[in-house]
Amino acid sequence: MGTSHILLTGDSAYTVDSRTGLAITPNAQIANAQGRLAAWNIYAQIRGLPMGKFRPSSLGVVASLGPGKGVGMVKSIKTKGLTTALVKEMVPLRYLYMLGGMRLMAKRLF
Ligand SMILES: Cc1cc2nc3c(=O)[nH]c(=O)nc-3n(C[C@H](O)[C@H](O)[C@H](O)COP(=O)(O)OP(=O)(O)OC[C@H]3O[C@@H](n4cnc5c(N)ncnc54)[C@H](O)[C@@H]3O)c2cc1C
Repeated sequence: MGTSHILLTGDSAYTVDSRTGLAITPNAQIANAQGRLAAWNIYAQIRGLPMGKFRPSSLGVVASLGPGKGVGMVKSIKTKGLTTALVKEMVPLRYLYMLGGMRLMAKRLF
């Protein structure tokens, strides 16, 4: 992730998975994790602490194919149909919960 004084995250960053040597497809999960690490690394620099290195991990990928339809891979489990559609619906809810707890999540639901 960048140099010691310039931190690139998300779609602006070209990230290579050090385990595979392959470039990582930019997505929201990666951008979110890199953003958190960048925040930590800014703090670490101010405090004189060692900076963290980005280690990509993925909860999976889901794609909607219309109402009640989809395909995906959650960890190493392949999903399709309604299961995937439900997982896809839960992704933004989970994110809202992480940002603002039940209150923010409920705003989307009701
Ligand atoms: C149609 C579409 C569907 C997608 N679906 C998925 C999906 O289902 N799952 C998934 O994981 N990823 C998905 N992605 C990818 C995901 O949206 C991006 O990988 C992620 O948003 C990258 O985050 P980011 O913070 O790098 O950039 P962004 O989310 O693009 O944030 C950049 C921000 O910077 C702002 N900005 C730009 N220029 C300036 C400026 N000069 N000054 C101030 N602000 C500025 C922009 O307005 C924007 O808010 C999708 C992308 C698209 C386009």
